[in-house]
Amino acid sequence: MMDIDKRSLMYLPGVGPKKAEILRKEVNVASFEDLLYYFPYRYVDRSRIYSIRSVTGDMPYIQLKGRILSFETLGEGRTKRLIARFADDTGVIDLVWFKGIPYVREKYKIGQEYIVFGKPTEFGRACNIPHPDIDPVEQAEKVTGGLTPFYNTTEKMKKSFLNSRVIQNLQYTLLHILNWQLPETLSDDVLQRTGMVSLSEAMKNIHFPQSDEKLKTARLRLKFDELFFIQLNILRTAAYRKHTLKGLLCPIVGTHFNNFYKEYLPFDLTDAQKRVVREIRADMGSGRQMNRLLQGDVGSGKTLVALLSMLLAIDNNYQACMMAPTEILAHQHYVTLMNFLQDMNIRVVLLTGSTRKKERQRILPAIAAGEVDIVIGTHALIEETVVFASLGLAIVDEQHRFGVEQRSRLWQKNENVPHVLVMTATPIPRTLAMTLYGDLDVSVIDQLPPGRKPIQTLHRYDNRKAELYDFLKKEIRRGRQVYVVYPMIEESEKLDYKNLEEGFEVFKEVFAEYNVCMVHGRMKPAEKESEMQKFIAGQAHILLATTVIEVGVNVPNASVMVIESAERFGLSQLHQLRGRVGRGSEQSYCILVSSYKLSADTRRRLEIMVQTNNGFEIAEEDLRLRGYGDLEGTRQSGVGIDLKIANLSADAQILQYARDIAADILAADPELTLPMHKPLLDRLKTLFAHKVNWGRIS
Ligand code: ADP
Ligand code: MG
Repeated sequence: MMDIDKRSLMYLPGVGPKKAEILRKEVNVASFEDLLYYFPYRYVDRSRIYSIRSVTGDMPYIQLKGRILSFETLGEGRTKRLIARFADDTGVIDLVWFKGIPYVREKYKIGQEYIVFGKPTEFGRACNIPHPDIDPVEQAEKVTGGLTPFYNTTEKMKKSFLNSRVIQNLQYTLLHILNWQLPETLSDDVLQRTGMVSLSEAMKNIHFPQSDEKLKTARLRLKFDELFFIQLNILRTAAYRKHTLKGLLCPIVGTHFNNFYKEYLPFDLTDAQKRVVREIRADMGSGRQMNRLLQGDVGSGKTLVALLSMLLAIDNNYQACMMAPTEILAHQHYVTLMNFLQDMNIRVVLLTGSTRKKERQRILPAIAAGEVDIVIGTHALIEETVVFASLGLAIVDEQHRFGVEQRSRLWQKNENVPHVLVMTATPIPRTLAMTLYGDLDVSVIDQLPPGRKPIQTLHRYDNRKAELYDFLKKEIRRGRQVYVVYPMIEESEKLDYKNLEEGFEVFKEVFAEYNVCMVHGRMKPAEKESEMQKFIAGQAHILLATTVIEVGVNVPNASVMVIESAERFGLSQLHQLRGRVGRGSEQSYCILVSSYKLSADTRRRLEIMVQTNNGFEIAEEDLRLRGYGDLEGTRQSGVGIDLKIANLSADAQILQYARDIAADILAADPELTLPMHKPLLDRLKTLFAHKVNWGRIS
């Protein structure tokens, strides 16, 4: 059976090389096993027969029972169609075919009793059923046991006669060849404990449900299976790492940390910051390697936590580095740290893509010789030329901008793996965190520094610009600064710049008495930098930008964020942008400007933004609206998990359950070496052999 699993579908009766190629290309189904795991996306109840008189165009798929009265071919060329008049005791309806006319004409007989299955479509004042499935009554009663599965198919598949019905037939052929028996993936103890049905039973009922109830238990079993093995893999990798990777010991809380804390810290830490610092101290002093994800909404004060952690490393004679996703942000971190540390004897350098060659030649040997304590930088930090004398702590800020691989290169910079702190302002829903970063310990800063007023978010349509400008002028007169952000989407780059530049002209005219500056991705770094500085220094009142300011920039006096074409941004992106304001003590505003025409989903996104400032709520909603595969971060880091049946948002409970069971098993048998767990180990090996082991890297 194991061998049969991996066999190419080409060898399945009814498939052949051509269809196999189409299935592989279109839906990534290449082997026998792939086919079995190609699950239906919905089921239609075929136990019910409708009367023709009751049929309306808004009905979903339905079944009729009757006889064909006559055939007729109408139209020419592209409008050519075959019409069958189909009748039962209550009325007559047209069945229509635009393709395969000779085949249909040949196959179905006038006067014979058929079961017709299809989706009624409004046509003029009447209804017809295009391209129905037709079975003789006796045969229909054999194949249709009530619920009929529907498989996703593409246009190309349909053109090659690979419709949903055919896929189901292939499933039948395959399961029949396998004697309806599959090797069990779960071990007996797991089966017993969870009361799940066997894999064979689940597979049979997912493709050929015998009843609603059996379908339910089949789905549960398969969802559990999927989530369980992901969790088992993550937890096992994490346990392995905890046992084998030695952490660099940082037990000393020394002069740098203490001095800074007592003498230079300009404000009290929030309770949340204190708690997180304690967690990090415990990790770094434990002798185990720290792998911690620090989540904190924008403005919650992660930078300070990062700084204290770096001081801890320095107190223990290690170096620390902090990697930011953009030059502007790295530069700002550098300035912030220099400000905090100006009176302390700590050597900080900045290393980015635009660091001059001469400067580089000075910095790199200093890092290698251990003459530098803290290195702040961008991607430039992970270049091979950067060698540390003794890197003890690597911090990654706003980690969603970095791929998993880039991060792992950072921690390969040392013979010993440094402690790793990954900071993110995009809260990751718990279910996703458990699946993607399940082996990272998680700290959360769930509190903003005191004195912040919640940001007010408003939604305005773009035909009322005059009011918006008046409002902005009022705020500027009160001494505030304003961000105006334009969307930037790669495909239509030209258009985006046009919007931004036109906006710039308008703002310069409307706000003639004020200073307006502009930043975008096409500018040279130096030019960007100088425009940004104008705004940071308070010389410019309005900053127009593409999303380059999305992450991290801190200008407390900027209290208004205007987002143009807000409908073109994703939820988490909107939330990130909003986080740029609300950092001072003034009331801040976020104004979402959109056109009047909005899709239901978009309207919902903007409503959520208006309703809540809570990043976690927004992340959960984002997951619900977009599905996990699209979440920023999973896509960018290239670790999109290919879930075939489970849904991270809807199946959170099953996920938690699967995780608990996996944890229990590993607690008793960490290496899965007990004979009774052999099926689990085997399954892990087949599932994760060829995939990136993200459990290990992130
Ligand atoms: P983020 O979590 O988005 O990176 P920052 O670290 O940039 O947030 O902090 C936002 C602002 O809040 C900064 O100006 C910082 O100096 C300030 N801040 C951080 N912690 C505190 C605190 N405990 N009390 C008052 N202000 C704080
Ligand atoms: Mg930050």
